Amino acid sequence: MKISHTSQAQHLLKQYYGYDEFRPMQAEIIETVMQKLDCLVLMPTGGGKSLTFQIPALLNSETAIVVSPLIALMKDQVESLRANGIEAAFLNSSQTPEQQADTEENFRNGNYKLLYISPERLLSESFYNQLKTTPVSLFAIDEAHCISQWGHDFRPEYTQLSFLKKEFPNIPIIALTATADKITARDIVTQLALNEPKTFIASFDRPNISLKVSAGQNRFTRILEFIEKRPNQSGIIYCLSRKTTEQIAEKLKAAGIKAAAYHAGFSSQVRSKIQEAFIRDDVPIICATIAFGMGIDKPNVRWVIHYNMPKNMEGYYQEIGRAGRDGLPSDTVMFYSFADVAVYRSFIEEGAGNKEIELAKLQRIQDFAEAQTCRRRMLLSYFGEHSGKDCGNCDVCKNPPEQYDGTIVAQKALSALARLKENVGVNLLIDVLRGSNRHEILEHNYHTIKTYGTGKDISFSDWQHIMLQLLHQGLIEIAYDQNHVLKLTERSKDVLFEGKKIQLVKHAVIEKRKAESIAEAKEAKPESKTKRIKGELFERLRVLRKSIADQQGVPPYIVFNDNTLEDLAQKKPTVLDELDDITGMGEYKILKYGQRFLDEIILFIKEKSAEGEKVLGAAYLLSYELFKDGKSIENIAAERNLKPTTILSHLAAAYAKGLDLDIEKIVNMAEIQRIAEAVKLKGSAELKPIFEHLNAEIDYGKIRFAIAYLKKNGI
Ligand code: ADP
Ligand code: ZN
Repeated sequence: MKISHTSQAQHLLKQYYGYDEFRPMQAEIIETVMQKLDCLVLMPTGGGKSLTFQIPALLNSETAIVVSPLIALMKDQVESLRANGIEAAFLNSSQTPEQQADTEENFRNGNYKLLYISPERLLSESFYNQLKTTPVSLFAIDEAHCISQWGHDFRPEYTQLSFLKKEFPNIPIIALTATADKITARDIVTQLALNEPKTFIASFDRPNISLKVSAGQNRFTRILEFIEKRPNQSGIIYCLSRKTTEQIAEKLKAAGIKAAAYHAGFSSQVRSKIQEAFIRDDVPIICATIAFGMGIDKPNVRWVIHYNMPKNMEGYYQEIGRAGRDGLPSDTVMFYSFADVAVYRSFIEEGAGNKEIELAKLQRIQDFAEAQTCRRRMLLSYFGEHSGKDCGNCDVCKNPPEQYDGTIVAQKALSALARLKENVGVNLLIDVLRGSNRHEILEHNYHTIKTYGTGKDISFSDWQHIMLQLLHQGLIEIAYDQNHVLKLTERSKDVLFEGKKIQLVKHAVIEKRKAESIAEAKEAKPESKTKRIKGELFERLRVLRKSIADQQGVPPYIVFNDNTLEDLAQKKPTVLDELDDITGMGEYKILKYGQRFLDEIILFIKEKSAEGEKVLGAAYLLSYELFKDGKSIENIAAERNLKPTTILSHLAAAYAKGLDLDIEKIVNMAEIQRIAEAVKLKGSAELKPIFEHLNAEIDYGKIRFAIAYLKKNGI
């Protein structure tokens, strides 16, 4: 019989990580691993892959082995686990022989829940011998795309990992990657010799990342404005050349902004120093070539700017993906200029790659930059994911161009394509639609198909524009490997046979719509007061986090994620019990850091109140503090210019939250007794009936307080 592990897993999620719910697919993957079945997980960066093997590692008594290709990532993951009170270690070449021997001994003694290991080390004979005699719960292969020559980070050692299944056929393997492409996925399964793996493919959408494309004029000034609106936030500016990274960093520094350049021309020591400074929030902004980013797990990169257009959609997706791993709102801007396109063209012409494919890919990102339909739909449809609706979080959605019902037009195009057996390129298709007498058409008898000439009334260039939109909406695809002929998709069948309606953008509108100022103006909204206070508190907590992190020699995000700070700033807890409701606060972190963060929040509230600011949800705290200082309720009421009953309700709230109070100073035991009897008699804790039942002899404030006491003591 199969036992489900979900409720236990849920419990561990809360206990160790401080999260209430699993993200999509996480619970299912965990269950699969617990059933000792192999699985393949394709999930975007920030999707939450780590938990899918860490929780099974916690559920099992033996050690889980995690193969990871990058030393920096291993260190980061192990630090995160330890910060949550989970026993974990890594083994790789960065350690001294003594450290390695020590770690291995601990492993043999079963002292770790998880052991991270480099493939080289795993493949060594000495480790293999230990594996044979030490019980292991599972193998997780992180960054599994490294096994494929197709992928972008091929690692030859990974190809030898097939020995795991051969030697340990009963230990489940979970392979994980943020690469979506199907060839790589197939490669992973074959090369690891996975046993009928269950495959989990998550959506590659990252809805928290906003998308924006902007014309390349005055880039630097606009970048400055962008950064000034986002003080203390981490971001990356990607540039095409090393020289540009240095120039931009210099200009930023000259403007008083902390920034550094990064590119492969620096020595590896310099590079790791810059990387470390970024991770630790010492230098928030890095101007870099695309050499920067791989192996950086920093979850609170709040924005990514492309100073130059990326060379293809794959690169664009990967680079913007470094923003917002923590799931919080993050912004991206791509600057686009013809100069960049020209540079890429010459690279491609001179390079040794497949020119045709590279040019086609360049064309697609250029189309993306120029198009006026939802950018996220375009991006996802490029990767074969068709969402069917606009995202609301891109520049086009926020400032939409004028649309018209293009259903009939789309039907004409798609039906012609179907009749042409999906075997023509875009120009020929348009010519057929426009009833051209071109030699090729007559030769193939294309002029005899039913839709020939039905699109005569639309100009060639308007048709080109329509085709581009159909492509971006996922209604047609280009088969690059078959002479660029067009293909129908699942979605196009809905239009052809199910009468699905299609909206298209007017060409003339697009021509006109080049100015961006409208969108910019819309962005600049004044902040509300609550938001400002929350922001101020967030900053204070951020500073505290940084000082704790520095003391411990870890990156700030290891202490807490931005999510946790946001939640703290929003809910303003003041007692330990309330920290249970804060995301990212597992038991271990509550014990370790909880009180320091509470103290900071309390201090903030007191200071704000002393300045005469009203802090939402914290009014009770000031009354409580004054009461603790020995002041009477009447005095506090006079001082705060409030009614005594209000002060009593504040104290009741403080008491209910678990703050320590001498209750007998407020309501004596005899009174509590009478109130308790009244509650019992009335069968409810409603104030008015109790007040009346007691002949108005005990005032509302006391009653409220007594009820808090009764509730707390379970009476
Ligand atoms: P990936 O490895 O897929 O890039 P991670 O495992 O690093 O993603 O997770 C990204 C972020 O999301 C981390 O900060 C992680 O703590 C957080 N996270 C993961 N699962 C959950 C969850 N169920 N609820 C809240 N946050 C989560
Ligand atoms: Zn959109």
